[in-house]
Amino acid sequence: MLEELKAEVCKANIELYKSGIVLYTWGNVSGIDREKGLVVIKPSGVRYESMKPEDMVVVDLSDARVVEGNLNPSTDLPTHLELYRSFPNIMGVAHSHSIHAVAFAQAGRSIPILGTTHADYSSVEIPCTRMLTREEVEQDYELNTGKVIVECMEEKVLSQDDIPDNISDIIPGALVHSHGPFTWGSDPMDAVRNMVNRIVKQDPAAKARLIELWDETKPKLMNLNDYVTETAALLDESQKLNFKRWPILNTRVHQNPKTYGSYSAEVNNVKQYITGRLSRFDELVRK
Ligand SMILES: [Zn+2]
Repeated sequence: MLEELKAEVCKANIELYKSGIVLYTWGNVSGIDREKGLVVIKPSGVRYESMKPEDMVVVDLSDARVVEGNLNPSTDLPTHLELYRSFPNIMGVAHSHSIHAVAFAQAGRSIPILGTTHADYSSVEIPCTRMLTREEVEQDYELNTGKVIVECMEEKVLSQDDIPDNISDIIPGALVHSHGPFTWGSDPMDAVRNMVNRIVKQDPAAKARLIELWDETKPKLMNLNDYVTETAALLDESQKLNFKRWPILNTRVHQNPKTYGSYSAEVNNVKQYITGRLSRFDELVRK
C-alpha cells in the first residue's frame, strides 16, 4: 500500500537525519495521499541508519487509525494531522529539533528575515507561536501543538495584503514556542483561500455579511455575459479575418488547455465559464 509514498517519506527522513540537524530520533517527516486520505509517517523510536520504507506507518487522516505498519507512528503524528487538515494544499510536513531553530523557539522569538537564503524560502519572518497553556500541555499536547501553529498562521496570513493561493507561498513553517520548528511543503492549490473560508464560516456574522455583499454584487456580474456578447459582435468582422490570417488564433495559449476552432466558439466558452463560476460561487457562499 502506497509503496511510492512510503519510499519517498523514508528517504526524506533519512535526508533530514543526514543534514545533521536531527539528534537521536528527534525528528520526523510525513507525506500525504490526499485522494485516499492517508498519511505516511516515520515510526516512533526507529534509528535512521536502519530505516526502511516498509517501516513507515500508514494512518488515516480523519481519525489517526493505523491502516498499515507494525510499528507505532511518530508521537508527533497528531501535530502533522492537524496541519494536513487545516492546510489542504500541503503535501508534506517535517519536524526537527535543529539546535539553532530550537534556540529561537525556546527564547520565544520569531526568526527575522535577515539573510538571502531565508529570503529564497520565505518572504517574511518565520513566526514563533504563542506558548501553550498548562491545560494544552497536559491534555493532547501534540494535537494542541498543531492547533497553535494553525492559529499563528491564520493571524500571519490574514495580515497580508495579497492572500496567496498557497500558505507555503508566504511561510514554509513555524517555530512552536519552547519546542522547535515544523515546516511544510505544498502543491499549487487553494490552501489559504480554504483557510480563510473556514474562518469566515466559523463566524455567523462574517458569513451573513459575505452573503449580503455577494447578493449586492451578483446582479452586476450577471450583466457580464451581455457585455461579452456586445463586445464580441463589435469585433466579429475583424476576428473572422484574423482567424483566417493568423493560425496562432486557433492554437493553445496561456492556461487554456482547449481550443475551440472558431471565434464564436471561443466567445461561448468565455460566457459558459462566467456562468459556471457565478453559480459555483453562489453555491459556496450559502453553504
Ligand atoms: Zn519535537
